[in-house]
Amino acid sequence: MLTPEEIQLYARQLGIPSWGIPVQEKLKKSKVFVAGSGGLGSPLLYYLAAAGIGKLVLCDYDRVDISNLNRQTLHAYDRIGEYKVDSAEKTLIRMNPFIDITPVRARITNRNAARLTGEADLIVDCLDNFQDRHVLNTVSVRNRIPMIHAGVSEFRGQITFLNPPETPCLACFISEKKSRGVNYIAGAAAGVIGSLQAVESIKYLAGFGSTLKNRLLFWDGLAMSFETVRIKRNPKCAVCKNA
Ligand SMILES: [Zn+2]
Repeated sequence: MLTPEEIQLYARQLGIPSWGIPVQEKLKKSKVFVAGSGGLGSPLLYYLAAAGIGKLVLCDYDRVDISNLNRQTLHAYDRIGEYKVDSAEKTLIRMNPFIDITPVRARITNRNAARLTGEADLIVDCLDNFQDRHVLNTVSVRNRIPMIHAGVSEFRGQITFLNPPETPCLACFISEKKSRGVNYIAGAAAGVIGSLQAVESIKYLAGFGSTLKNRLLFWDGLAMSFETVRIKRNPKCAVCKNA
């Protein structure tokens, strides 16, 4: 049940046709596992918290560094050295005190992934390397939790909605390559793609609109163009062939 104060807080979205109180209550019961509280995690978490997603699990092992602050807007100069998940929790709870936030100071591994993501309705990939993304992909496939994958570099980004067997998994179209050195990122580019992840998350949890299933969206900020390509399952994919 929503309190009168929550109804006031969400007033400007409750009036959207097809949103309303029943959808808001559904969102309040939803649990999202967010891997990474950095460049993509910042806009994503701001908008999930503001929209009233009731349970957010934040997973990141890293601490706030001065070089994060061009894009990781959940954090601040006076939080340098703090765990990102703790800094993120402080910021988000100030925006919306009606939601549960669980900070997890850990790196996702094959050993802890199932336990950490347990009971989640959705996984959102806000990671910065492909090694950890493939760990997240494997648990998403095994435990049948849909995953919104995204990545960002310089002025570009990509995003898709994964839920095998209806869609490919990450391993169907991206090999387990090692990430190369420093990834340079325009802060606002992470803002664009992380915000798109928030829109996809809210639509999926609410049950309206259509997600980026079987479509990989590329955004080029320099050309200011969006392009969507069809992606298909790889029938020989070692991760999802039995999904
Ligand atoms: Zn696959």
